[in-house]
This record gives sequence, structure tokens and C-alpha cells, in this order.
Amino acid sequence: MDLYEYQARDLFEAHGVPVLAGIVAETPEEARKAAEKLAQPLVVVKAQVKTGGRGKAGGVKLARSPQEAREKAEEILGMDIKGHIVHRVLVAAGADIASEYYFSILLDRSNRRHLAMCSKEGGMEIEQLAKERPEALAKVPLPVTGIDEDVARKILAQAGFEDEELIEKAVPVLEGLWDVYQGEDATLVEVNPLVSSEEGEIIALDGKVTLDDNARFRQPAHEKLVDKRTEDPLEAKAKEKGLNYVHLEGQVGIIGNGAGLVMSTLDVVAYAGEEYGVKPANFLDIGGGASAQVMADGLDVILGDPQVKSVFVNVFGGITACDQVASGIVKAIEMLGDKATKPLVVRLDGNAVAAGRKILEDANLEQVTMVETMDAGAAQAAKLAAGC
Ligand code: GDP
Ligand code: MN
Repeated sequence: MDLYEYQARDLFEAHGVPVLAGIVAETPEEARKAAEKLAQPLVVVKAQVKTGGRGKAGGVKLARSPQEAREKAEEILGMDIKGHIVHRVLVAAGADIASEYYFSILLDRSNRRHLAMCSKEGGMEIEQLAKERPEALAKVPLPVTGIDEDVARKILAQAGFEDEELIEKAVPVLEGLWDVYQGEDATLVEVNPLVSSEEGEIIALDGKVTLDDNARFRQPAHEKLVDKRTEDPLEAKAKEKGLNYVHLEGQVGIIGNGAGLVMSTLDVVAYAGEEYGVKPANFLDIGGGASAQVMADGLDVILGDPQVKSVFVNVFGGITACDQVASGIVKAIEMLGDKATKPLVVRLDGNAVAAGRKILEDANLEQVTMVETMDAGAAQAAKLAAGC
């Protein structure tokens, strides 16, 4: 899960990383009040969207009075930044920037370690810097123990920091950012810019944090960081029902049992769909003990996706035998009634396959087509989704 800047700012503050005062506002009037409360000669009004390059897009504006903050908020709220609509702004105390640096910690999956990146040239887009002048961006693989004083000094030295006074100030900030990364189970903590102010203080002026969703079970406090407004409504519904569902952009709904089988099903459907210009619409693993209720819940979520034109149910009977799965499908269609009119292609194989097929045959449901193999099912479902 990616966080908004204001959420990253809060985490930074909680871990002792210096940030400036800031208040979130949803209306121009709230922004005016926020600026009044901050009582600073200069405030910054910043669009809260989960994408970078807000500054360039006009989503970061300076204001010298509460009235001006109101006007800037009015300009920024509702703005479309790379497809993200601005619903909130952060009104933050303005910094007197002497220099802008770049610092990040990320999970380097290909090398299976944590990596710190640091540059004396922050502010601009880092991808551009990395491409044009890679020598200006230090990349330091981290030991499993993370960033302590020695490691922080090494990172700063590699990035070309020489001023001892500045280094003294920066070291605890880097340690604090490691604390955020590790303590919050993040896979990315990026500060761009990390600035030194005219007074010689180091401040994290902008923060981007990605949290590891696989660690959610031990981070109950992260639940409140989920943005219900932008969370995928289908995924939210699936989560409520305890389903293992991922929404994709496509027309062929997929249900299977076992993550491996479902992944392969996505592949064959993607392949079969090429001819018709259709793609898999989701990942859904109903797992081992797929009861009629689980099948109904799964179908309900998938059929609730307006993009879905057909569904491919691909089940290999194991502990849950094919007859139980078939009864599940029949009951699910009954339970869903009018909501289950889109064509369903069903491939059953494995334990009790004959009994399973018989149940579906006897039920004689007009929306259900049975197929023998996974490839045949994928082709049929793709064809139906394309309306052929
Ligand atoms: P981004 O464009 O989405 O990365 O947004 P940032 O929060 O990084 O802001 C973009 C730029 O706006 C920064 O690189 C700064 O140059 C400028 N900026 C942001 N906050 C302040 C501030 O408090 N004071 C001043 N003078 N400039 C700021
Ligand atoms: Mn930035």
C-alpha cells in the first residue's frame, strides 16, 4: 500500500524524523483556517495524490497569507494529476531551503537486500538524474542490521557530503528513516527533497512510503491508513468476504482453486484472449474447502465487475471433490438469481469428476457450458467475452 504524503509525514514524525508542521484540508476554507493556525509567514499548499511530480504539475504552491492559501487550495483541489483527482491538500509550514537532497531506502528484490540511495542533487525527478548522471546518485547496499551511525556516514560520504556539521545533522535523520522503514514494515521510504534549511536544519520536506501488505497482520495500526475512497470497491467487497481476490482490467472473470492453478488459468486465458482482444478480469482463488457460499461470494464479486462478460470456473477436485464444487455452482447461481446471467464456462477435473459433471448436466443451467480441458475452457470463455 502506498501512502499519501501527509501519512508518510506522520510516520516520520512518530519516528523522530524532522518534518514541518502540517494540516490536511479538504476545502479552500479549511485550507485558510489551517494556514491561520500554522501562523507562518510562508505556507505550502500541496496536493495529496499517490503520484510523484506534483510540483511540476502545479500541485505544490507557496502562499504568504491565509487568504492566499485559500486561493491556492481552490486551484489545487479537484485538479487531475496524472489521472489522480485531488481531494485533499496538505497545508504545511514553508521551509527556507538552502539545499535539496535525495534519500531513499528500498527493498532491492533482485539482489535480495535493502538498498539506500542518496544524492546531493534532490528535488528534480530522480529517474532522470539516475539516467543522465548516475555517478551523482550513490547506491549503498545495506547490512541486515540497517542504518546505524557508521552506515549513515558511509552513505553520506558516497553521496559526496563533506561538510562535517551537515553530516552530524544528517546522520540521525538517516537512522530515523531506517527506523521508519524497519519499524513500519515498509518496502520503500523516499524523501525528495530532504533539505537543509537556511538555519542549517535537516528536514524531510516530502515523503513517499510504501508499506508491505504482507506484514499487515502485525501492523494493526496500518488499517486506518487505508483510503476507503480510492480502494478498489470490488477488492474491498472481496476482502470483507475473506476472498483471495485481485482485480485486474479484463473481461473474463476467473475462479479456480489453488493459487498455482489460478495463475496458470490467467496465463491460458490471456493467451486465448489475444485473438479476441480480451483479458482475464481478476485473480480469485477459492482455496480448498470451497463451499457453495464461497462459490456464491466469488461469483457475486466477479459478476459485480461491469467489465466482466464471461466467467471461467476452473477447478481441480481434491479434498473438495468435484461434486461438491458442482453443487456449489448450482446453489450459487440459485442464490444470485438475476445477478448470475453472464455465461459461465466450467471445467471440472480430479476427484469425483463424473459425479460433478452429472450434477451440472442435471441442473441444466442455460448460462453454464461445460468443457473438458483448461485450454478449451479458456478459448470458450474468451470467445464468449468477445461476444462471438
Ligand atoms: P513533488 O513534486 O510531488 O515531489 O512535491 P514536493 O513536495 O517534493 O515539492 C516539489 C518542490 O516544491 C520541492 O522540490 C521544493 O522545491 C518545493 N517546495 C516544497 N515545499 C517547499 C517549502 O516548504 N518551501 C519552499 N521554498 N519550497 C518548497
Ligand atoms: Mn518530491
